[in-house]
Amino acid sequence: MRSLPHPVQAKFLLSFDFDGTLHDPSQSPPVPAAFFEVIRQLRETHGAVWGINTGRSMPQMLEGFIESAFPFLPDWVIAREREIYTPNNFGRWLPDSKWNARCEKEIHRLFKKSRKLLERVRHEVELHTGAQWIEMAGEPAGIISRTEEEMEWIVAHMQSLIGEQPAFSWQRNSIYLRFGHRDFQKGSTLAHVAALYQIPNAGCFAIGDSHNDLEMLSPAYSGMAACPANAVSAIRELISQRDGFVARQCAGFGAIEALEHFFRS
Ligand SMILES: [Mg+2]
Repeated sequence: MRSLPHPVQAKFLLSFDFDGTLHDPSQSPPVPAAFFEVIRQLRETHGAVWGINTGRSMPQMLEGFIESAFPFLPDWVIAREREIYTPNNFGRWLPDSKWNARCEKEIHRLFKKSRKLLERVRHEVELHTGAQWIEMAGEPAGIISRTEEEMEWIVAHMQSLIGEQPAFSWQRNSIYLRFGHRDFQKGSTLAHVAALYQIPNAGCFAIGDSHNDLEMLSPAYSGMAACPANAVSAIRELISQRDGFVARQCAGFGAIEALEHFFRS
């Protein structure tokens, strides 16, 4: 599988969160086939390039392409909210080595500097909640809580703990949380992709449904922003406040509605 033929001059950049925004596991197929037709048309009429901006890892995203029967690949993927990948002519995914390495280095350095703080956070989480602390390769990777309410408590509590290390940050998606660096999230990574295509902020469209989409949906990173009807309240509020588009339909059908709102009116 490959991407659509590249436009001579890319004019718009479309950024889609995956789970809950394009993908709805209760639907068959999970991503509506009509979505891809709209993308195909916007490529022709608007010189639009598009990508998935997700909390999934790249291997999990590849599973998603197969499960959802993508007829063609996106032009880029932002995985784990911060790693950039693009497909080559054979549909093989290659990392943006420079950006990905810089991001990993900065995060590693920050974790090292924040060791005491992280120990305190872990202690508090394990003392007061039943959430699971996840580590990978010796680094604090994240937290999985038992309920949304538990995660609300954890996030509120962490906010009061991190004052001494403002670069320390996290991305939340429902009961999942990934630790990271304030400067590397869906928004800043999207800005990097936009710069590669030389597309200004006004030409960037983003749509998402959960907390880890907050940055990319802020006016700093997207001139046009939307959310599907199933978005969490924090996202709906942000979209309403900034004069974005709140779709009436859920997930992929909401994404189609949003594209029609911005590009066909
Ligand atoms: Mg989502």
